[in-house]
Amino acid sequence: MSEKYDCIIVGAGPAGLAAALYTARDRFKTLLLEKFMPGGQIINTDRIENYPAIERIDGAGLVAQMQKQVESFGAELKTGCEVSKLEKLKDGNIAVYCDKDKFTARVVILAPGSIYRKLGVPGEEEFAGSGVSYCGTCDAPFFKDKSVVSVGGGNTAIEETLHLTKYAAKVTIIHRRDEFRASRVLVEELSAKANEPNSNLIIKYSTIATAIEGKGKVQSVKLKNVKTNEEEYYPCDGVFIFIGMVPNTGFLKGFVELTDRGFIKCDCAYLRTKVPGVFVAGDCRIGAAMQLATAVGDGVVAAMMLKQYFRDPNWWNEPVSDILQPGGW
Ligand SMILES: Cc1cc2nc3c(=O)[nH]c(=O)nc-3n(C[C@H](O)[C@H](O)[C@H](O)COP(=O)(O)OP(=O)(O)OC[C@H]3O[C@@H](n4cnc5c(N)ncnc54)[C@H](O)[C@@H]3O)c2cc1C
Repeated sequence: MSEKYDCIIVGAGPAGLAAALYTARDRFKTLLLEKFMPGGQIINTDRIENYPAIERIDGAGLVAQMQKQVESFGAELKTGCEVSKLEKLKDGNIAVYCDKDKFTARVVILAPGSIYRKLGVPGEEEFAGSGVSYCGTCDAPFFKDKSVVSVGGGNTAIEETLHLTKYAAKVTIIHRRDEFRASRVLVEELSAKANEPNSNLIIKYSTIATAIEGKGKVQSVKLKNVKTNEEEYYPCDGVFIFIGMVPNTGFLKGFVELTDRGFIKCDCAYLRTKVPGVFVAGDCRIGAAMQLATAVGDGVVAAMMLKQYFRDPNWWNEPVSDILQPGGW
């Protein structure tokens, strides 16, 4: 016999922990399953400055507080528990498998997150968190008046690079092709910025980074022009890598609908997947903003909407409407 819960949450990152806080406070029997330690990606940073009401905190400190709060309301947390399979049962419940364990629940909230795609060059791992960053929105202020290199060619890369120019003294964006694949409006904005008199933005096309170097801190990045094969050591204080995210959703193939890149498809208002009773929250879903606060917000939305499903299972198939907006807006 498998133990039965009202709600099982897969992944104890910020989205999963926030969802568990709400479901446990609502007195729903809640189980959080986490393959490593609680906290998710945010545990890897020692400075968060964009979580509302908290001026500055390290990831581990924030996660410790979240976990304590969640457990104080009775949510059960199992770590070292990698979910490998889910199954919709005939009675409408959902079975969740990790290793030899099987749990069942009326509702599952999927919150397995994503990981930043790595460049895979020497120095990247060594300087991660101390000069190498994957999030301009998070880390740009730490590079005020410094020189940084950003890598990438998509929309996020351009947006984040423009954000960096508000802080750094010099920003150099490198892209392996001779044109960006980002939307035209963003590329035009980037070019306009680079063409301003005394601009702090430089664009280098057909260029790749082959190593990140320094002693104790980032001091340069080794660049290679892929057309001429010329190489140079380019001095800088930081390297921002914006080459995409990889969602942790391999185990969900065939259970919920995924995009080509593996993000979980859902309706972005209520976070329902196509499988009744299965919600999604955080960085693993389509349209995620990939931020701590938005992951937490998603967890809260899924936990709130779960009550609507419990009240009326047929709601699952209703299109997104203003039915739940009290008073409208
Ligand atoms: C170094 C770094 C610094 C950052 N700094 C900031 C910042 O300053 N501000 C900000 O807003 N954002 C920041 N971010 C981004 C932020 O951490 C993420 O947006 C947020 O953590 C996403 O939360 P999540 O819960 O959706 O996913 P995650 O944090 O990725 O958590 C998912 C969890 O699910 C677990 N999991 C995955 N698969 C399974 C499975 N099969 N079974 C069980 N468990 C599973 C994972 O182990 C993980 O613990 C940073 C990210 C990094 C890496």
